Amino acid sequence: MTERKAKIETGWNLDNSYARLPKSFFTSLNPTPVCSPKLIILNHSLATSLGLNVQALQSNDGVAVFAGNQIPEGALPLAQAYSGHQFGHFTMLGDGRALLLGEQIIPQGNRVDIQLKGSGKTPYSRGGDGRASLGPMLREYIISEAMHALGIATTRSLAVVTTGESIIRETYLPGAILTRVATSHLRVGTFEYVSNWGTLKELKALADYTLERHFPDVDVVENRYLFLLKEVIKRQALLIAKWQLVGFIHGVMNTDNMTISGETIDYGPCAFMDAYDPKTVFSSIDTYGRYAYGNQPHIAAWNLGRFAESLLPLLHVNKTQAIKLAQDEISSFNELYHCNWLTGMRAKLGIFNEELQDESIIQGLLNIMQKYGADYTNTFLALTFDKLEDMSMFGTKEFSQWNELWQARLSRQQESKASSHELMRNSNPALIPRNHRVEEALEAAVKHGDYNVMERFLDVLSNPYAHSSKQADYSTLPAPSNSPYRTFCGT
Ligand code: AMP
Ligand code: MG
Repeated sequence: MTERKAKIETGWNLDNSYARLPKSFFTSLNPTPVCSPKLIILNHSLATSLGLNVQALQSNDGVAVFAGNQIPEGALPLAQAYSGHQFGHFTMLGDGRALLLGEQIIPQGNRVDIQLKGSGKTPYSRGGDGRASLGPMLREYIISEAMHALGIATTRSLAVVTTGESIIRETYLPGAILTRVATSHLRVGTFEYVSNWGTLKELKALADYTLERHFPDVDVVENRYLFLLKEVIKRQALLIAKWQLVGFIHGVMNTDNMTISGETIDYGPCAFMDAYDPKTVFSSIDTYGRYAYGNQPHIAAWNLGRFAESLLPLLHVNKTQAIKLAQDEISSFNELYHCNWLTGMRAKLGIFNEELQDESIIQGLLNIMQKYGADYTNTFLALTFDKLEDMSMFGTKEFSQWNELWQARLSRQQESKASSHELMRNSNPALIPRNHRVEEALEAAVKHGDYNVMERFLDVLSNPYAHSSKQADYSTLPAPSNSPYRTFCGT
């Protein structure tokens, strides 16, 4: 009797609403096939939550999809057109090395974009090779998943495959493709593109599509496009506050790298700050510190200004009125951001209620941290667990004076010390993806084909508020070095 093995379905359930938008918004094309794909990492929990079958995804056919060698049923691959302000300068961009396969309809009924990054040249490649290398794709995987676990809105990473092909950078590097999942890839730059080169009808189509996709409650409001602007500002004000609270530095906050959904996108030169210093910059090309840690809220407001400009014709028929509406909204960003930041900082210090002097208490601590070069994450950890011996800062007079103020502040609230401690535990991560640990994991993977270091790292990063003993190792600082940590974009 012949054995009949039922083929396990991968679970792809793709729709293509973006492909139904005006043709100028994208270019349809297939990924460029690669010679010898190999699955390096698959995000099992994410796959399952998307309604995908992890076993089937690991089969040759499953991996062929991640490599761009097979197009899953229902996909209509396309490169999205967008422009953007890069370091303040407006330019035409678009998916130069990525393709949207389609939108997966997940079991709950929502849709998420499935994008291959590193899938070959597109009409927007502008001289680039359309490819990506293994190190940066694994870096995006690690950091985006760490951000997700920290409770910060982000695109996710479903899988990384190597292509079996080398790509040329300063040297030959192993080619790789990342499968990125996002609630959408709509960017501020998408609006800038349509507003600059499209018709009013097209701009309206983009805005309506965005509203339908991200803000389905819009029907109850009077001015739907003003509502869109308000909501995007709200989401970004929350996102940037969350970045600041964990010391995340995006590194390349160009308008094409800012989503409408409020998710963090484009993990190129990003990194987490060690010693607290608002001027911290890691990106090798950010010479003037435009995207420094302390500048991120200002840059977000600037980018949202570009978003508002692109919406002007939809906000009001009268241009002066439209500008006034936009300006009023943009000026609300600072207050919204600040409020989120203050709430988050209070929680990091175990404070439940609000007092006027809270901000000066918080700023007082930050000033001392900056003066003594104290590690951002570990200072809050030490305060949480009352371990005030490890850092030189804790032995200073300034700190003991501050500590008295803080203790007095805590005693002025009804909640117990134990509740404060609990709040701090849940607000201060046991670890962040420290730069030297990220590099260690990437070196083992890329140079030695050893993925265990990365797997262990991903495991401890997956629950940063667990404060487990195996996480303690990951909070140690790198050995002092004379050369500062540097990151690179577009690699
Ligand atoms: P990023 O710095 O990743 O935000 O990329 C900025 C722009 O450069 C986007 O339009 C990318 O698609 C494009 N790009 C980056 N790397 C490549 C590459 N290797 N080939 C083609 N386009 C690229
Ligand atoms: Mg980008």
